[in-house]
Parts: sequence; structure tokens; C-alpha cells
Amino acid sequence: MSEQLPSSIPTLVIGAGVHGLSTAWHVAKQGGDVIVVDKTGIAAGASGIACGVVRNNYFQPAMQELMAACVEVWESDPEALHYHGTGYIALGPPAQESDLIEVFERQQRIGYPSELHVGAGEVERHMRSLYADWRAPGLTVCLHEHAGGFAFNRESMFGLADKARAAGARIFPGVEVTGFEFDESGAVRRVNTSQGTVEVEQVVVAVGPWVATLWEMLGLPNRLDVRQPDGTVNKDLPMWTYWYLQEGEVEIDPREFVTADGRTSPVLHVDSDQPLLTDDGKLVTDEPWGVYFKPDRKSIQGGAEPQQVGHEFEVDPYPGGTVDPRFVDMWPASLSHCLGRFEGARQYFRHVRSGGVGAFTVDNFPVFDYMRPNVFVAADSNHGYKMIAVGREIARVLTGEHSSLLHPFRYERFATGDLHPVSHSPYPWS
Ligand SMILES: Cc1cc2nc3c(=O)[nH]c(=O)nc-3n(C[C@H](O)[C@H](O)[C@H](O)COP(=O)(O)OP(=O)(O)OC[C@H]3O[C@@H](n4cnc5c(N)ncnc54)[C@H](O)[C@@H]3O)c2cc1C
Repeated sequence: MSEQLPSSIPTLVIGAGVHGLSTAWHVAKQGGDVIVVDKTGIAAGASGIACGVVRNNYFQPAMQELMAACVEVWESDPEALHYHGTGYIALGPPAQESDLIEVFERQQRIGYPSELHVGAGEVERHMRSLYADWRAPGLTVCLHEHAGGFAFNRESMFGLADKARAAGARIFPGVEVTGFEFDESGAVRRVNTSQGTVEVEQVVVAVGPWVATLWEMLGLPNRLDVRQPDGTVNKDLPMWTYWYLQEGEVEIDPREFVTADGRTSPVLHVDSDQPLLTDDGKLVTDEPWGVYFKPDRKSIQGGAEPQQVGHEFEVDPYPGGTVDPRFVDMWPASLSHCLGRFEGARQYFRHVRSGGVGAFTVDNFPVFDYMRPNVFVAADSNHGYKMIAVGREIARVLTGEHSSLLHPFRYERFATGDLHPVSHSPYPWS
């Protein structure tokens, strides 16, 4: 018989994805009494379908510092978290040089292990030392991060759930939050669910792309004014925008995707300004394009640039999209563009549902903040499978501590103009 939902609990977490599970793990580790409710179950959302890339490469200092902390958590138990610390390599054309140099320099300052190669010859030499069949032209900058890599999405979430349970947290699948009851201070006192009402002291909302629904239940505005760093104000912007993130898989033995010394390949992320052609010479695109790919359980997985689907989007049932018809040419062509071993990869493209929807905030960066006196919202703007340390920081904040890692992601920044710097890259996904 399944356990009965308690009628009251000090800390109730909504959502059994990376943020909800990590929060519950750390709250329980601190001795807190915590439950996680999920309308479906563990890994039912974005965390269960993410490509699983763990990287530090972000132009924004606050993102980089947070990601460095996240990598430490991944590295703390690679086996249970199904984490592969293969590293990550970002490559780009001249337009990417200044950003990647800046990212590298900051990595040096914060002690994140990486190396940088600049100039076409240097980049080619480095890549050929790793892959004898490397052949992507026109790349003049290479940031090779020696930490980070990837993890297997669902397995890692089940590993995280085991850790949370072992620490004393309880997880209730099949429990949907349907509303909140507030007191006169605006704090939530009762959480209404499909299985009854729970009295609470603290609530953590970690519902991934379903955030807009919970945001509305909390009575928060779905449009807002955003002050820019120069003092001007952009009026009446939508709080949430949805993008569809396409992913693909080619069924090639992952053992073929190894480096010259036989190790599992780092994640490769290529932004290119070169024409992209199919193996039989047809032009796929002559616009700037980008791709990342990594070994998967039985194949090679990765994605290309996201497509915007707008401000209104139905994310139930999730994920609900299909692969863009052009993607089946584009993605294998980009693998073959980079590595000779992937010539002909098009025929191994797996026609399976792949990818999903992300909910992006008004500035495309996370909001990690108290949005009601006792309700902490973790809305990662779709950056967050890798952000496994956010739950640790939330657990600290719930006990009244300050988190300097989460502070830059407070909601107040939209009113004060204390926004994150925006890169100059022509590749908006980088
Ligand atoms: C195709 C794709 C690829 C991605 N690749 C990467 C990547 O390589 N690296 C990376 O860092 N990030 C990646 N991301 C982003 C990342 O997956 C998300 O940012 C992250 O997983 C969000 O985690 P979460 O815990 O907030 O939410 P989720 O993992 O979505 O979990 C939310 C949970 O809340 C539950 N829920 C929703 N509403 C309710 C309710 N009313 N009551 C109870 N439960 C509810 C859902 O059932 C779900 O299980 C990718 C995203 C997509 C879509």
C-alpha cells in the first residue's frame, strides 16, 4: 500500500525534477522534515528528457560561479548520479573568440580547469590530437573544459531520489498541486492537492516548464516591466516564453565516439559560420548554425538551436512536440561536418520523439527567489539539469542563511535593472 500524504509538513516541495529532489535531499540532510509531491513521478518533467550536458561555459559571471558549484555536486558521487566527467569542448568562429576568451579568463580566476586555443591552426592541432578525423573548417577558438561532461537524465534523477530518501525525505508521485490558501501576510498556509490538503510552513516550487501555472496560482504577474542597466524601462513584457528544444539521436555504437587515447568523448559544442552540407553535397544551411553532441547510452545524442513557440503553450502532456522535418538532415550533417567517422550518420538517425519544451523567463536567466513570504520558486529558465547545486543552496536559504550563489537570480532584478550581462555572440543559444 502506498504511503498516505501527511496532513501537515514543515517543508513541501512541488516537483520531482532536479531542483525538487536536490532541495529535498539537502533539507533532509540538514535534519528537516520534507516531502516532495509530483503530479506524475520522479523524472517526469524536463530533467527526465534533458540531453544531460554539464558545462561551465556561460558568459555571465553568476552563471559560471553557480555551474562550478554544480559540477562539485555531480563529482561528489558520479556512480549514483550516473555522471560522466568527460569534459566539454566549445568551438567557434572568429565571432565567438572574445566571449570564449572572457569565459576562459574567468575560469582561471575561479579555479575551473580548462584550456584555451585561439587561431585556426591551434584549434585544428588540438582537435586532431583528440580525434584524428576532426575536419570542421573555420573554427578559430576552442575552450576545452576538463571538468563537467554529461549524465544520463532519468537514471541520475532516480539516483538523486534515492539520496533524498536515504536522508529521510519522502516522495509522493501522483499528487498534483491544485491551489494554495494564503494568510493575511500573503504566506501559503495550506496546499491543496489532488490527494487532499497539506498544512505547510515552507513551500518550494520546482515545476520546470509548468511554472506559469503555479506562478498564477501564487497570484504573481504574468507580465512585467523590466528596468535595463541604462535606466530605461521595457514595459509590459511576458514573464514566460516557451521554446521548443529539438534533440536527435543517431544509432551509432557510442564506443566509436572516443578520443585518440580510447576515452569517452567530451561533449562537443560547435558554433559555425561555414555552410552546412549533407554528405551528398546538398546545402542544409548557409546561415550560422550550432550543434552539441555527446555519447548516449546506445547512440549519439545532441541538439541544435531552439525554436521559439511563444508565450502561450500547453505543456501537458509533456513533451508534446515532433522533430522539425529539416532537423533529420541538419543534425547528422553537422556530426559529419565535424568528424569523418560520422559520414553517413544520416541513415542511422533514430525517428523517435526527442526534445521538449522549456519555459524561459523574461531575461532568459533563472529566478531563484522567495516569491511569497514562505514560498521559494526555482524557475531555471531551462538552464538547469546541470544545476544540481541549486537545491543545496535553497536548503540553506530555507534555514535563513544567505546564498551568494543564488542572490544574483532574485526576482527584484527586473525592477532594479541589476540584470545579467548579455553576450555579444551571434549564436543566441551560446
Ligand atoms: C530537450 C531538452 C534538453 C535539455 N538539455 C539540457 C542539458 O543538456 N543540460 C542542462 O543543464 N539542461 C538541459 N535542459 C533544461 C533542463 O532539463 C531543465 O532546466 C531542468 O530539468 C528543469 O528541472 P526542474 O526540476 O525545474 O523541472 P522538471 O524536471 O521539469 O520537473 C518538474 C516536475 O514538476 C511536476 N509538476 C508540474 N506541475 C505540478 C503540479 N501542479 N503538482 C505537482 N507536480 C507538478 C512535473 O510532473 C515534473 O516532474 C533541457 C531541456 C529540454 C526540454
